[in-house]
Amino acid sequence: MTVWDDLAGQSDAIAVFRAAATVPSAGESAEPRGDEASVRSSMTHSWLITGPPGSGRSNLAYAFAAALLCPDAGCGVCPHCQQVAARTHPDLAALATDRVIITIDEVRRLVTSAQFSPSVGRYRVMVVEDADRMTERTSNLLLKVLEEPPPRTVWILCAPSAADLLPTIRSRVRTVRLRVPDVADVAELILRRVDVDEQTALRSAREAQSHIGMALRLATNPEARDRRAETLRIALDLRSVSDAVIGAARLLQIAGDDAKAITAERDAEEREHTLRSLGVEPGAAVPMALRSHIRQLEEDQKRRATRSLRDGIDRILVDLLSLYRDVMKVQLGSGGDLVNTELDSDVRSAASASTPSATLATMDAIALARARIGANVAPALALESMLVTAVQKEG
Ligand SMILES: [Zn+2]
Repeated sequence: MTVWDDLAGQSDAIAVFRAAATVPSAGESAEPRGDEASVRSSMTHSWLITGPPGSGRSNLAYAFAAALLCPDAGCGVCPHCQQVAARTHPDLAALATDRVIITIDEVRRLVTSAQFSPSVGRYRVMVVEDADRMTERTSNLLLKVLEEPPPRTVWILCAPSAADLLPTIRSRVRTVRLRVPDVADVAELILRRVDVDEQTALRSAREAQSHIGMALRLATNPEARDRRAETLRIALDLRSVSDAVIGAARLLQIAGDDAKAITAERDAEEREHTLRSLGVEPGAAVPMALRSHIRQLEEDQKRRATRSLRDGIDRILVDLLSLYRDVMKVQLGSGGDLVNTELDSDVRSAASASTPSATLATMDAIALARARIGANVAPALALESMLVTAVQKEG
């Protein structure tokens, strides 16, 4: 077992990081000689991992961190690897956010902690999971440290694409692009991680369009599967403008339920983890002195809820898009597997009841709804006008 085992379909990226992690650090070897110099160049202080949501960017970042901190280049079982997995390694600092932006204070704290020398390992490793969620001012703070990195620190930034970062930051990092993993790769990962049958694993990977986190959730959570099915059913049953109005309200409800379910799972986990780290057994009363910690946590969790609804709506829109893409595929006779194979006959009748240009208009309307909701338009309005466009089948 190694830290690289649990990543789906990213062998090229893994090869790059493996090579970098096995290069001796400056503290361990003398001046590079001959071919050693060329090997040395495969290691750099600043990395950017890009890839679509769910492709495993942050998993890969932590695998690389473990490989840098483990004496055995990422064995996956030693205390170093385990501490990285638990995010408790003393030489690892990680910044992840559930909010819309990373605050400048968060980055300031991280930059300050980068100045310390490694306490036990070869490196100090700094991971920024959502480097695209920084304002320009915050980015510039990070830029300073990337321009003059403290010795023996390694920065690993993650973002959907390089274009999401300031050009000045882009020019300071080595970018490693992840690809959308194959459905089969994601299904294999699901089978390794959770106890489900092969068919469920494949179906979840396909329906999540290879988004690893969503695929795992669909595979293990029947309610999430039901919500997805209902979302598609609403679109398939649209006949009139009044269907569209009712459907939009229902979609919003589904998105809210989905967001609440995800938030509740995570909040409970986080609370238990925090209590444990404070030495309180599950179920025991929280001592007075620790209550402010818990209050802080609850406030953070509340702040997170806003973004979580927006993510919930976006998941629904991605599911709807997969349906109309399937319809389009049938209309154009372009072949290839449908995402929603279980709805094959519904997709076929929807395809014959409309035209490619009407389907395209609906897909555009979905993209527009995503953009409008991203720009803070009231979700109910955006969803409604999207479904009204979907009703207009004659295009
Ligand atoms: Zn290890």
